[in-house]
Amino acid sequence: MPFVVQKFGGTSLADAEMILAAARKAVRAHQEGNQVVVVVSAMGQNTDLLIQLAHQITENPSAREMDMLLSTGEQVSAALTAMAIHSLGFDAVSLTGTQIGIRTDSSHTKARIRSISTERIQEALRAGQIVIATGFQGVDKDLAITTLGRGGSDTTAVALAAVLGADACEIYTDVDGVYTTDPRILPEARQMPRVSYDEMLELASLGAGVMHSRSIEAGKRFNVPIIVRSSFSDVPGTVIGLFPEARDRPVSGAALTKFEAQISIGDVPDTPGASLKIFSKIAAVKIPVDMVVQNIGAEGKATISFTVLQDDLSETLTAVTEAAEELGAGCVTHDENVSKVSIVGLGMATQTGVADRMFRALAESNINIQVITTSEIKVSVLVQREQALTALRAVHREFELEKPPTARAAFGHEKIGTSTLSPVDIVARLRQMEELTIEGVRLDDTQARVTIESVPDRPGVSADVFEAIAARNLFVDMIVQSIGYDGKANLSFTIPQDTVSEAVAEAERLAEIMGAGHILHEPKIAILSVLGIGMRSHTDVAIRMFQALADADINVDMINTSEMRINVVVAVEKGPAGLAALEKAFADVLR
Ligand code: ASP
Ligand code: MG
Repeated sequence: MPFVVQKFGGTSLADAEMILAAARKAVRAHQEGNQVVVVVSAMGQNTDLLIQLAHQITENPSAREMDMLLSTGEQVSAALTAMAIHSLGFDAVSLTGTQIGIRTDSSHTKARIRSISTERIQEALRAGQIVIATGFQGVDKDLAITTLGRGGSDTTAVALAAVLGADACEIYTDVDGVYTTDPRILPEARQMPRVSYDEMLELASLGAGVMHSRSIEAGKRFNVPIIVRSSFSDVPGTVIGLFPEARDRPVSGAALTKFEAQISIGDVPDTPGASLKIFSKIAAVKIPVDMVVQNIGAEGKATISFTVLQDDLSETLTAVTEAAEELGAGCVTHDENVSKVSIVGLGMATQTGVADRMFRALAESNINIQVITTSEIKVSVLVQREQALTALRAVHREFELEKPPTARAAFGHEKIGTSTLSPVDIVARLRQMEELTIEGVRLDDTQARVTIESVPDRPGVSADVFEAIAARNLFVDMIVQSIGYDGKANLSFTIPQDTVSEAVAEAERLAEIMGAGHILHEPKIAILSVLGIGMRSHTDVAIRMFQALADADINVDMINTSEMRINVVVAVEKGPAGLAALEKAFADVLR
């Protein structure tokens, strides 16, 4: 029997009329012969109101009581939705996270699902009922109510779809689907008929804001097609699945994280364990970091910089200042007027000449790039906040995201059909809901590194460099540009070893013309990678990686992170020992 999970967000349940409309959608799916589980968020802005209320009582409400309070919002919606279905003449039952048996860990306000029991829901479905489940909540081993973090109902819905073997998880919201960029920021943004999990993960973490990113991780892990669509219109929506929108496009979407802050720590002793100390202090307070750049150390000192959301700045500064003192590092500086602009696309993993197009488009709009980081499917740049919108528009236009792909290039939808989950699969799903899964640990020792010191900090420099490199058909892998001190920045990239002398010659020629400093290069480096799902939301992965390398006395030269993998550059002779250390460190979670 076909099986669908439907999730309704707060804006789709804002009043009685809307709850009735949601109920009608559930009934329609039921009448079409589906088993239906509905997951609800709190009505309208209810969660925000409850939070405000708590803060009127005390500045520092206990996290346990906060969860007790916030979980009531979803309970209200669930009961009303069940009543609405009854009023339409159909049978429905509402169940809380506790009643369903959504077990979580005990980190109140940001709990992770450990397991879900399915008996109760299945029993109700067999009895012909529509099940209404409260989103966002679970229960820990002591029966304390927990919540999954803001927006967590998406994750409840996809997790339920996964364990129940549903054919699809429909997310009803107030937008028509997923767009090439946020349509509230850029009116020319286009709704995509489909997008891949990996792209969506990057876009969600980049501030696309449509979905809770852990719900995409769950979708990817269990291959649940997620359909994002509007409650208010009949637009078909966007399918989030295995494939991207088109075969021939390097870039699928662009994202702006407007309120970023950049933090730099100078004069860090360039020794194994330094980055570990810094990032474990930040991970301890569960703040995700991005755009981590570690400069090649001069005179035994390195500069480490990274970005966090502006809201997390003060908490991060406290943690980092402590680490800097313990390490005997230099001063900690920050810039809170920056924004991150990123392009994302599965296609760029196999195409060259993507980054330089982005850099050129920005240069033509006279935008200076402060920091660059790349991953297999993403290029991010940090720019001054007042230029952020212009920057987003420039890259959106450059990659013609407003134009739909040609019919020939478009991927078809994967079949959304009746699920054929075996009992064994179901047991496996029940056991490892949101746990970290590491798919592999890799060593790539075929690359070399080139660094251009002190490139002038003005628009067009990185565009010139990477266009010149691309014109010679040299394939650049990682690109990292650090923040410019004294108006100067360091630009590093990795490239296959057999092309390094050509790249150095080209870099020397360019440095001469633009008045940059020395060209440094390392003819052989090792890139160690840890690959998996949810690498960034599990903030401790990078820490485990740094810990393992520090224990093996291996120094990290460059770092880059994405949702799918964390890469570090180390000395080539340390490659095999580093690989062994990582295999050991992740043995328990390797698939
Ligand atoms: N009601 C919760 C929130 O506002 C959960 C959700 O809507 O997904 O964050
Ligand atoms: Mg939401």
